[in-house]
Amino acid sequence: MGPGPVMVEPRVYEAMRQPIVSHVDPYFFQVFEDIRALLGPVFGTRNPFRMVISGTGTSGMETAIVNFVEPGMKLAVFANGYFCDRISNIAERLGAQVVRLEKAWGETFSEEETFEFVRREKPHVVAFVQAETSTGVYTPGKTIAAAAREVDALVIGDCVTSLGGMPVNVDENGIDVAYSCSQKGLSCPPGLAPITCSPRAMERLRDRKRPAPSFYFDLKLIDDYYEGQHRYHHTAPISMFYALREALRIVDEEGLENRFRRHRQNHLAFVTGVEAMGLEMHVREPAQRLWTLHTPRVPEGISDVALRRRLLNEHGIDVLGGFGPLAGKVLRVGLMGASSTRENVLLLLEALESALRAEGFSLKASGREAAERCYAEMGWPE
Ligand code: PLP
Repeated sequence: MGPGPVMVEPRVYEAMRQPIVSHVDPYFFQVFEDIRALLGPVFGTRNPFRMVISGTGTSGMETAIVNFVEPGMKLAVFANGYFCDRISNIAERLGAQVVRLEKAWGETFSEEETFEFVRREKPHVVAFVQAETSTGVYTPGKTIAAAAREVDALVIGDCVTSLGGMPVNVDENGIDVAYSCSQKGLSCPPGLAPITCSPRAMERLRDRKRPAPSFYFDLKLIDDYYEGQHRYHHTAPISMFYALREALRIVDEEGLENRFRRHRQNHLAFVTGVEAMGLEMHVREPAQRLWTLHTPRVPEGISDVALRRRLLNEHGIDVLGGFGPLAGKVLRVGLMGASSTRENVLLLLEALESALRAEGFSLKASGREAAERCYAEMGWPE
């Protein structure tokens, strides 16, 4: 129950046992077409350009940057956590001019400061992280995209921890390039990075004078492999495509509305439970909290390492701690994909209660009981 990878759906493991075909076999391209069709609703987009990059979430990030940011271009980064720093790092290595709007870890950006920053900097591209896994903060991106449109900047959104667990709404929010991963809200093993690009982004790609500086992540070459002539570019990890197709079919069968409701209700019950015990959520504003990744604050005087050791050794539950400015201050609890269940929420709250007590914290009330009442009020299961 950490920030990912999360539990893999049994049907996904089963799908991975299917025989390997060649990466230029027509059957493989059919698998890819199925994935492309199923990715549209999950991303919330009608963009025809929907691809899968062979690699983890970072490969999606690198692909977005090396194709749409060129040396000397100005990239404006909305910086409020670790993964925003990684975006900046990749762009700086490329020789881009990176400018940042800094926020404390756990906060997001007001409309006023968003517009002021973009109008002042007039960047070619802006980048933000929709679901910051280091802090638990949700930034949908609509305001950022509206500001970017004013100066004709392209919008890159990191949707690694939102896809499959919360609304990404690529089209509605105005995100031009959105990428994600397979191992979080989609409940696959790590290894693939879904990506989608708007027609506006595709125009920029076509207008590039020089080829992207990375062969492996060159979207024009990758597009030529999956589309067009199916010209060999690299050997696609076939089993992972079987896995992703099955995971997306599971999302489709559950229905996005139901899936989002499940994540939201488990999120609310978990928050109710930790607050009842006397803990605080690091992200103060409820509407800015992710439904997939939770950051309850570790109480003063309690060691997060000792707490997590008890959870793991005594209860078999793995959650992670904070890092950077949040080291020792928060737990990072993932409730996403197949891991987002009522059973897991109640199990974790009970284990947390016992671990906190053993570490000398006096609980205000039972978290598990509060969560059970919350489920009853929400009418779970419907
Ligand atoms: N972006 C965000 C928001 C993430 O949480 C992560 C990983 O957790 C990444 C990017 C990088 O993904 P990966 O570790 O799969 O390469």
